Amino acid sequence: MLTLSGITRRYGDATALDGLSFTVPDDAYVSLLGASGSGKTTLLRLIAGFEEPDAGQIILDGVRLDGQPPHRRDIGFVFQNFALFPHLTVEENVAFGLKYRESNAVASAAEVAERTQAALELVGLEGFGHRGVGEISGGQRQRVALARTLVTEPRIVLLDEPLGALDANLRDRMCDELRAIRERLKVSFLHVTGSETEALTMGDTVAVLAGGRIVQSSGSRALFEAPLNASAAKHLNAWNILSGTVEKDKLRTNAGILPVPGSLSDGQSAQIALRFDRIDVSDAAQVPEGRHHFEARFLTGEFNGPTALSFFRTADGALVQVVDHLSSPRLPRLEEGRTYALHYRPEEVLLFEGAEG
Ligand code: ADP
Ligand code: MG
Repeated sequence: MLTLSGITRRYGDATALDGLSFTVPDDAYVSLLGASGSGKTTLLRLIAGFEEPDAGQIILDGVRLDGQPPHRRDIGFVFQNFALFPHLTVEENVAFGLKYRESNAVASAAEVAERTQAALELVGLEGFGHRGVGEISGGQRQRVALARTLVTEPRIVLLDEPLGALDANLRDRMCDELRAIRERLKVSFLHVTGSETEALTMGDTVAVLAGGRIVQSSGSRALFEAPLNASAAKHLNAWNILSGTVEKDKLRTNAGILPVPGSLSDGQSAQIALRFDRIDVSDAAQVPEGRHHFEARFLTGEFNGPTALSFFRTADGALVQVVDHLSSPRLPRLEEGRTYALHYRPEEVLLFEGAEG
């Protein structure tokens, strides 16, 4: 198990990571989701030992890692741009890490060859060993980068946006492969990405990095369906967040004064979250009984194949998104510029207390 506690990393006046705590369990695929610049690469570099935290501890299986040089940590790192040696063959790239590492270098040529072949087989590249890395596809280069890391039998593998350089088709295939390879190895993967779909597809656990901390770490389904705070919810690209102030058990937001679950004290800040696919639309006069609603003007629609996204704006300027699945459409025909009632079941509302994070 890898445990990070109270990790802080500053660059000059800027704080990239701010007292971050987080656990990667054994034998698990963990995704780390964060916007560009949120500190994902920094976090991986701290775990690998390419840089040191200003505060906090990194512990792997009970042993403190921070302060140790990278080659003593047994951590695998798959770099964002693959970082292969262009003048070496596939085989030589993979063998490199075994022959030249600072500790436990493998001297026996037979052992290097055997382990290199095993790593190439593991990633589905048997037969490609003699090719130059310029003579293979992007997806294959990705596998070489992975094989080069796995050949050293790391205790945990860090992957920095490993699918970012691949086109969409290939990305889907590589997703399945990465999961399958990890399952065979039983080593934990920590996969960093800016894409919520990638994070949710890949991770048994998904951790969300925002404001220099992990704001939630949960099973992917639990995270998607029940984010614990507005910051986590925002990263899922599936929830409308409406912020406001409590007034007599209701929340004054820029979508109007809305009922909230539970009882809150007047003047308190809170946010509610409403999932894109849990909002229905009707004429303002036709809100079904038992549902909460607010009014908003239809701006425009966006068609994405199996789903259609509709954008609305309330009189006070809140942008609200509604998703319709074309296999079971539930939205009426919408006219741009017209005002509709957006309604939802009261129990669909998530309430987060406190000011917006
Ligand atoms: P991500 O990988 O999530 O895009 P990074 O970890 O690369 O984010 O960067 C997090 C923040 O730290 C950014 O604001 C970035 O500019 C800053 N940062 C990262 N590395 C350095 C560095 N070596 N020197 C100064 N600032 C850095
Ligand atoms: Mg990065």
